[in-house]
Amino acid sequence: MTKIRFGRHFLERLLSDELRRAQLRCLLFPRAHPRLVGIRRNALILSRIHAVAAAFGILTLAWLPIDLIALPMRDGAIFSVLRVAASVGFAFLVLFTRRRQSLGRVYLSLVLLYAIPTVFYFTSLLLLRHSGLGLYARTALEAYWALPAVAMAGLGIFPLTLVESIAFSLPVITGEALAFALHLGVFFPGGIIDALWMMFLMGGIAAVVGLSQLSFSLALVSQSLRDGLTGCYARASISELIELNFKDSLRTGSPCAVAFLDLDRFKEINDLHGHEAGDQVLIEAVRRIGSTLRATDCLGRWGGEEFVVVLPGSTGSEAVQTIQRIRAQGLGRRPGGKAVTVSAGVSERIADQCDDWLSLVRIADQRMYAVKSAGRDRVCGPESFGVISTLSAVSI
Ligand code: GH3
Ligand code: MG
Ligand code: MG
Repeated sequence: MTKIRFGRHFLERLLSDELRRAQLRCLLFPRAHPRLVGIRRNALILSRIHAVAAAFGILTLAWLPIDLIALPMRDGAIFSVLRVAASVGFAFLVLFTRRRQSLGRVYLSLVLLYAIPTVFYFTSLLLLRHSGLGLYARTALEAYWALPAVAMAGLGIFPLTLVESIAFSLPVITGEALAFALHLGVFFPGGIIDALWMMFLMGGIAAVVGLSQLSFSLALVSQSLRDGLTGCYARASISELIELNFKDSLRTGSPCAVAFLDLDRFKEINDLHGHEAGDQVLIEAVRRIGSTLRATDCLGRWGGEEFVVVLPGSTGSEAVQTIQRIRAQGLGRRPGGKAVTVSAGVSERIADQCDDWLSLVRIADQRMYAVKSAGRDRVCGPESFGVISTLSAVSI
C-alpha cells in the first residue's frame, strides 16, 4: 500500500516537474509557446506597440513648435523635417501593427519601434553638436543621456521571454556605447561606465517586469483556452486549431486528419453512479487520450462526452491507427469495472476532398454516427467505404 502511494507521489512529482520545465521553457523561448498561446501573445504585444507608436507619433510632432522657437532658423527647419519623418514612421507602425499577428511581424514592429527613435536620437545628436551648442542644444544634450536607459526600461511594457529581452536590449546598449565612442557629445554624468551600468540595471528590471507579465498572461490565456473540467482544449479553441491546421495543410499540400470521438453509453454512468462519477470518467479518458497523441496533435472537448482530435500531417489511415492505439491502450474504467469504450469517425482533407474545416468536422461526425448505428466501440475512416463491412475491419 505504502509502496503504491510512494509510486503515485513520485509519478505526480515527475509530472509536475515536467509541467514546471514546460513553463520554464515558455518563459525562456518564444518557440516553446503552444500555438494559440503564441497567437494571443503576438496580438497583445502588437496592440501595445500600436498604442506606444500612436503616442510617440503625436508627442514627436507636439514638440515641433518648441524646436522652432528655441533653435536657430536653419536648425529648427531641419529638426521639423526630422520630427515629421519620425511621425510618419510611427504612423506607418500604427498601420503595420493592425493586421497579421505573426511572430515575424511582432519582431519587425519592435525593431521599427526602437529604430525610429534611435535614428532620431543619433541625427539630433549630430545636429545639436554642430549647432554651436546654444543653451537649448546644451540642455537637450544633457537630457539625452537618459534616453537609451528609458528605451531600455520601456522594454518592460512587453510580455517578452528572457531570450527576447536579451536580444532586444543588446542593440540599445550597443547604441549607447556607440554614441560615447563616436564622441557625439552626449553628457554622461559619471561617465560611460556608470551610464552602461545604469543600462544593465534598467535592462534587468525590464526583463523581470516583462517575464512577470509573460507568466501572468500565459496563465490567463492557457486558462481561457482550456475546458474547465478535463483540461483539454475548449470547443472554441479546438475549432480555431482545426481551422489553422486546415489552412496550413492547404498551403503545404500535406494531409490533415480530424477524429470525432464519442464515449459509448455515457449517460448510463451518470444515471447509475451520479454526475460526479461521470466527471471522473471524462477526466481519465482525456488524460489517457492526451498521453497517446503526438505533440503536434491537439485534443478538444466538443461538448458533453464528445471530443475532437486534429492530427496535422496524418493521412486517414494513420489517424485511424492513432485512434486504434488509443482504444487498445484503454480509456479507463466505468464505475462498475467495465472498460470505457468510444465510437470514432475520422476524416481527412485530401481523401475527403474538403474545401473547408467545418466539412472536415462534419464528415468525421457523420462517420462517428455511422459507427454508433453499426454497434459502437469502433472506428470509421475515409478508406472505410461501405461502412458496416469495413468497420469491423478497422475495429479491434
Ligand atoms: P451513445 O453511446 O449513443 O453516445 O450514448 P450516450 O449515453 O453516451 O449519449 P447521450 O448523448 O445520450 O448522453 C450523453 C450524456 O453526457 C448526457 C449528459 O448528461 C452527459 N454529460 C454531458 N456533459 C457532462 C459533464 O460535464 N459531466 C457529466 N458527468 N456528464 C455530462
Ligand atoms: Mg456518447
Ligand atoms: Mg454524444
